[in-house]
Amino acid sequence: MASRKPKVKSINRQSVRHPSHSHPLRVFKAKEDDENVCSGCELELIGQAFKCTKSECDYLLHKSCFDLPGETHHKSHQDHPLTLLLSPPNDESVYTCNACDQYGSGFVYHCSNCKYNLHVGCASLPEAIEREDHEHPLILLYSTPSKGREDTIFTCSTCEDTIPEDLWVYYCKDCDYGTYVNSCAAYEDQESNGEEEEEEDEEEDEGEASSPASRIKSLMKAQDEMAAMKLEARIMNDARNAALDLWDQPKRRYYW
Ligand SMILES: [Zn+2]
Ligand SMILES: [Zn+2]
Ligand SMILES: [Zn+2]
Ligand SMILES: [Zn+2]
Ligand SMILES: [Zn+2]
Ligand SMILES: [Zn+2]
Repeated sequence: MASRKPKVKSINRQSVRHPSHSHPLRVFKAKEDDENVCSGCELELIGQAFKCTKSECDYLLHKSCFDLPGETHHKSHQDHPLTLLLSPPNDESVYTCNACDQYGSGFVYHCSNCKYNLHVGCASLPEAIEREDHEHPLILLYSTPSKGREDTIFTCSTCEDTIPEDLWVYYCKDCDYGTYVNSCAAYEDQESNGEEEEEEDEEEDEGEASSPASRIKSLMKAQDEMAAMKLEARIMNDARNAALDLWDQPKRRYYW
């Protein structure tokens, strides 16, 4: 007797489910030209991904975001584990990231005890980066070097904003040089980054197509683009609290 393999499995063989989305997803390879944005981390999406099977639906996830652990222990928050939430905590439409001070509306690593939130992209920032206009590597710090020192403030070496002491910075101690982790971390004076992009094809099987530098660049770009929309959402949703918020937290005046 010829043995038959059950055929059930071949139906929809490429569709998978993710708890963040109500429709089935399929494997998808995002090309650079498409300017896709991941619905989970809200960053630029190139390479291995999952896409909603419904043609009218834009839902997309990096493979790496699809696979994010539901809980993580992060060096920046050692007292408690962080839980992956698939949307902002407390039914809000946005949250503010404790690393970069920018809004997020997608996935978030969250500590409910401390009301601590991290963009999933910020949670995976490299611990050191190189930038072309600085001769030393910059090290990721989870607060500014001025934290706890009343006599000093810390100023971003790129934009010269004062960085609130609890935000993360990329820092060179030798030179006392430091920047915000996203908007100012990537050296922007590059006319083109074509070389770096061409090489990425070979590495895509790892699901992590981006180098630290391009990751930060895309973090910067995507979050800037979404910032306006998020502000709008926040204004609409938090109109009643907005005034109070500003009074309570005068440090948060660096939205853009
Ligand atoms: Zn993602
Ligand atoms: Zn969908
Ligand atoms: Zn962030
Ligand atoms: Zn905590
Ligand atoms: Zn700056
Ligand atoms: Zn230096």
